Amino acid sequence: MHPTTLEVRAPVPLTRLSEDEILFRDNVRQFAEDQVRPLVKEMDEKGVFEKDLIRQFFRLGLMGIEIPEQYGGGGGKFFEAILAVEELSRVDASAGVVVDVQNTLVNNALLRWANEEQRKRYLPRMATETCGAYALSEAGSGSDAFALQSRAVLKGGDYVLNGRKLWITNGKEAGLFVLFATVDPAAGYKGITAFLIEKQCPGFTVGKKEDKLGIRASSTCELILEDCRVPKSNVLGEVGKGYKIAIETLNEGRIGIGAQMLGVARGAWECAVRYAQERKQFGKPIADFQGIQFQIAQMTTEIEAARLMVYNAARMKDAGMPFVKEAAMAKLFCSQVAERVTSLAIEIYGGSGFTKD
Ligand SMILES: Cc1cc2nc3c(=O)[nH]c(=O)nc-3n(C[C@H](O)[C@H](O)[C@H](O)COP(=O)(O)OP(=O)(O)OC[C@H]3O[C@@H](n4cnc5c(N)ncnc54)[C@H](O)[C@@H]3O)c2cc1C
Repeated sequence: MHPTTLEVRAPVPLTRLSEDEILFRDNVRQFAEDQVRPLVKEMDEKGVFEKDLIRQFFRLGLMGIEIPEQYGGGGGKFFEAILAVEELSRVDASAGVVVDVQNTLVNNALLRWANEEQRKRYLPRMATETCGAYALSEAGSGSDAFALQSRAVLKGGDYVLNGRKLWITNGKEAGLFVLFATVDPAAGYKGITAFLIEKQCPGFTVGKKEDKLGIRASSTCELILEDCRVPKSNVLGEVGKGYKIAIETLNEGRIGIGAQMLGVARGAWECAVRYAQERKQFGKPIADFQGIQFQIAQMTTEIEAARLMVYNAARMKDAGMPFVKEAAMAKLFCSQVAERVTSLAIEIYGGSGFTKD
């Protein structure tokens, strides 16, 4: 066949959204502008996340995006959760992380691993009122997550947990914790088990909140387990299979972190472009200088590449395709883009870039 007779199909850009997705994204964007932006500076300074904002996240359905409608959730796709995280992070990275942990880690773990009784007990709460946290890291186990020391011992019908968790996002706000402990340290990673721990559980306390350099309004806390008793029925998945739950939920979590970073980069880029058009030096806006245009072109290109990677990984996940490599690459690349774009944005702001305003 002569090449000119071949049907040429216009490729569909990976970043193209359906009408429903555009509507959803625009609603979150508007909400972030109207309700979140006015609070960002104060929340960051105080290091406290506004409680009413979380209530509004629930009202808008942002805390249970993928939870099926029969449990009171939105019945949406993972991709929508990613759009929400990106749009919130564009305005406030702390807001982005609250919604990200809820959807891509906690709800995701419940949707995949909870039995029917646990689904009925927790999913309606997660969709309407209860903030969640995901507790894996400890002081001695970060990258080497499976070296965790928190211990769970079966006594009668309950597990009794002892140990400490560190760095737990949403620690202050959460009512439900997906928490990992070992039932048998000698078994190595095969002893790790996931537990569903409610805040009011006897022997469970939320400890010190970290004083962080960024995303200051998002709480990152220590958790203390002192003879914390949870019924056997609160084991998530199988005993000794917590490592699998941890690994697999973190895969999806990586796409969520990619979306956070993409949103952060976009937010900084928009501010920098606006400032470059307003700020005049040498008799004209600095945006007219090619040196600034090169920087903006670089930022724009990197953001586009980051978005392609995040959307691709999320679409693959929704399509039931293997996505682990794409998720890891999206997290890595988007983190680097966020770092570069925010640094360039600070540079474009000149001296003002070095002030908190
Ligand atoms: C803001 C924030 C929120 C968080 N939220 C949560 C949460 O909700 N739940 C949770 O469970 N955890 C959370 N964490 C913890 C996070 O998962 C850990 O910080 C992360 O796993 C890294 O562990 P670490 O801090 O102990 O660093 P380490 O593991 O001690 O690493 C220190 C340095 O050594 C490097 N390194 C480690 N191992 C190797 C190696 N083999 N080869 C080369 N270099 C290596 C690392 O890259 C790093 O640069 C959060 C952390 C932060 C900062």
